[in-house]
Amino acid sequence: MTTEDCLFCQIIAGDIPADIIYESDDAVAFRDINPQAPTHVLIVPRQHIATINDLTDEDCDTVGKLFMAAQAIAKEEGLADDGYRTVMNCNAAAGQSVFHIHLHLLGGRLMSWPPG
Ligand code: AMP
Repeated sequence: MTTEDCLFCQIIAGDIPADIIYESDDAVAFRDINPQAPTHVLIVPRQHIATINDLTDEDCDTVGKLFMAAQAIAKEEGLADDGYRTVMNCNAAAGQSVFHIHLHLLGGRLMSWPPG
């Protein structure tokens, strides 16, 4: 997969519409098209990285910024005090379906554990 046929690269470029709620130099966040909770946001790096397996030491700052974005969005969405979940799936067994890393931010309902 190249950035040209990556769904999330196309959303970041503005070629495919999405409900974008956060943008920074490093990351973009938009509402999931098939939400699994009252708040379900995907936080994606602008840089195309296919899976967690493809991360290098040079990406540590990028990944850290996804979590800082999650913190800011959770606060903005009123989730910070009650709590919320962040998830990043890797490859087929975990259910990854879009191969551009993304941090799911889910909140607004009680979460069970373990996840399915
Ligand atoms: P994952 O299964 O972890 O790779 O997550 C991919 C997520 O992307 C799923 O929760 C999908 O509902 C979501 N998704 C797929 N297409 C779009 C889209 N066009 N806009 C927003 N979210 C999307």
